[in-house]
Amino acid sequence: MLLIKNGRVLDPTMGIDGVMDIVLEGETIREMGENLSGETVLDATGLVVAPGLIDTHVHFRDPGFTHKEDLHTGALAAARGGYTSVVCMANTSPVTDSPTRLGDILRRATHEDVRIYQAATVTQGLEGKALTDFAALKQAGAACFTDDGIPLTDSALVHKAMEQIAALGGVLCLHEEDPALVGSPGVNAGKVAHTLGLRGASAVSEASLIARDCMLALATGAKVVIQHISTKAGVEMVRFARSLGAKVEAEATPHHFSLTQQAVLELGTLAKMNPPLRTEEDRLAIIQGLADGTVNLIATDHAPHTPEEKAKDFSQAHSGILGLETALALGITYLVEPGHLSLGTLLEKMSTYPARFYGLQGGSLRPGAPADLVLFHPKERWTVEGFASKSTNSPYLHKTLTGRVRATICRGKVAFQL
Ligand SMILES: [Zn+2]
Repeated sequence: MLLIKNGRVLDPTMGIDGVMDIVLEGETIREMGENLSGETVLDATGLVVAPGLIDTHVHFRDPGFTHKEDLHTGALAAARGGYTSVVCMANTSPVTDSPTRLGDILRRATHEDVRIYQAATVTQGLEGKALTDFAALKQAGAACFTDDGIPLTDSALVHKAMEQIAALGGVLCLHEEDPALVGSPGVNAGKVAHTLGLRGASAVSEASLIARDCMLALATGAKVVIQHISTKAGVEMVRFARSLGAKVEAEATPHHFSLTQQAVLELGTLAKMNPPLRTEEDRLAIIQGLADGTVNLIATDHAPHTPEEKAKDFSQAHSGILGLETALALGITYLVEPGHLSLGTLLEKMSTYPARFYGLQGGSLRPGAPADLVLFHPKERWTVEGFASKSTNSPYLHKTLTGRVRATICRGKVAFQL
């Protein structure tokens, strides 16, 4: 039995926030209270003890692009960031669009120290034409369905996908950028794009697809996630759709709540991602959405790329940045410290809510729950230097942030300890 002693136990699901001990037995939380005993002791004095973080949007590039990341290095990066569960996107090579391919990843994932879930695609080969076999894929363990990275332009196809996924009780996740309205991806259409001589990706390319899909979600009753929301109008559409009763959730990434398009001028391709960083008004609208409960999922879109892919000219460079190892600190630095969210609410959006919406394990410290926990110092200042990930494409390298993960425990086992 592992005793975690004297930590500030914070569990939004039980409304607990106080100094106490927690005992883990095997892969389960056994009890919490005062003066408990256990064979192995982990001293958590000065640390917050919370449900392990859950990231519903990562790219582990496995199979197909394992020179950037693989299941093992992805798991190491997750553990270092305080994550005990991740959902990998399906834009692998081959594309994860069949039960056989899904099963292969899930089988290999069982060897890792964090829980790795896998998404399946919505369309065969990510081609946006023929739907995959949702029932068979869900049966094989698909955590959700998404063509992430490639927006679905055919409204009838999305409508049909929602009907089928709703009938199965699944989750459909959508990358919302209408390609017809994207002049060039990775930078917001506006003054920064203009400086670079690029047309940029317009805010309306996102908001218009979100509007369509919110209405389709309302019509079908499907559970839909708007991935990495980046615009003020998008947040307002989600708020409106939910007020009508649509089962729509939205993800906010740490980069969209901490940076604006200005970062492109300073950091170049390290600030290139889809959808792009937008304006300060958009950033504040996402924070407002997080604060008022419109946006309930914080997900990183962890997207490793090689230095060569990021060294290219801005228009040619790959889009995406690392996310797992800096997310909690960015949440504390940009949401908690300025007073936008309480620490408990931040943890809800990084653990409890993702678990609940996707039906994943974890997200709670309730006795009997899986022994998935994160221990972190909420006030420690640290400078981002080096990553457990195979890649290094982070705009936060050398930046000083508040809040540091000290240990991650998954299935009762220490997966990371500083
Ligand atoms: Zn995406």
